[in-house]
Amino acid sequence: MHSSPSPAKPVTIRDVWQARKRISPIVKKTPLIHSPVISEQIDADVYLKLETVHEVGSFKPRGAANKILSLTPEERKRGVTTYSTGNHGLAVSYVAKHLGIPAVICVSERIPKAKTEAIRRMGAQIEICGHGQDDAMERCFQLQKEHGFTVIEPFDDPQVIAGQGTIGLELLEDLPDIDLVITGLSGGGLISGIGLALKANDPQIEVIGVSMEHGAVMYESLIRKKPVELKEPDTLADSLLGGIGLDNRYTFNMVQKYMDKAVLVSEKAIAEGMAYLLANHRIAVEGAAAVGISALLQKKINRPRKKIAVVVTGCNVDPDVHFKAVAPFLLHG
Ligand SMILES: *Cc1c(COP(=O)(O)O)cnc(C)c1O
Repeated sequence: MHSSPSPAKPVTIRDVWQARKRISPIVKKTPLIHSPVISEQIDADVYLKLETVHEVGSFKPRGAANKILSLTPEERKRGVTTYSTGNHGLAVSYVAKHLGIPAVICVSERIPKAKTEAIRRMGAQIEICGHGQDDAMERCFQLQKEHGFTVIEPFDDPQVIAGQGTIGLELLEDLPDIDLVITGLSGGGLISGIGLALKANDPQIEVIGVSMEHGAVMYESLIRKKPVELKEPDTLADSLLGGIGLDNRYTFNMVQKYMDKAVLVSEKAIAEGMAYLLANHRIAVEGAAAVGISALLQKKINRPRKKIAVVVTGCNVDPDVHFKAVAPFLLHG
């Protein structure tokens, strides 16, 4: 995509503050709630950052709004396009609708019905292309060439990263003595932004990313020290699928700089995390949003007496999928 990339200008904490101001008319601050049951189980103080309460059911409008609001009037008029596992596409549709900008969303046929229907409802045009994220991406750049649309990258973009980082600012506001943040890890825009925001304030704050066991592209890329490609398996955490881009410019470096540790969880553990959130908080979340809780329940992250915030990233899951996932943990006896 970027044939001769100029050196990437680093994203700074000032960019995150600017994002916060820019997106405030469109994206509202989300609640941070205490989770007493798991706190007791693991002898720590665990809080949940509820990104499920955004109108589109995930944190993604933070980055999408920051990017789209930064476009020139001409760029806005021509329109925007994106490729996405669903939540980013939905966020772009939402922001575009808000600002009266045309939007075409390219998705792979793997994404849940709940998401495609929600995108249609936003009034965006949707194109279903191929089996994976890469097919959707190709179509997206074709649209850019043909119609002059601006491609809104799902994670590897400074404005998107800064937008996601506003979660970090809100966490510090509500829990200034926070020790550790746990969040889902896919392309790494979310953890790059949050890690930057937190560590700019105190480098001691620990940042942990969690992915599913199979198809964790960032995790494998970190091990092999270069961006790699993997097959996309079936997973409850469909929002964590997708590559990081072989020509990744920002997040591969930022994740190495700002993430202290990466953890993997099994499909069963993800379902158990979803069941925990339903049973204890009456919250239905998608698999990608449960991975932080899953890692804690599995005792994969042991931080006695620390103040821990888990980012509960989204709730866009088909009800039948959710029901099937949680039933084995809730319907016994
Ligand atoms: C996009 C997304 C993530 C991961 O964000 P990245 O910036 O790609 O790492 C996690 N959870 C949900 C629900 C998402 O939509």
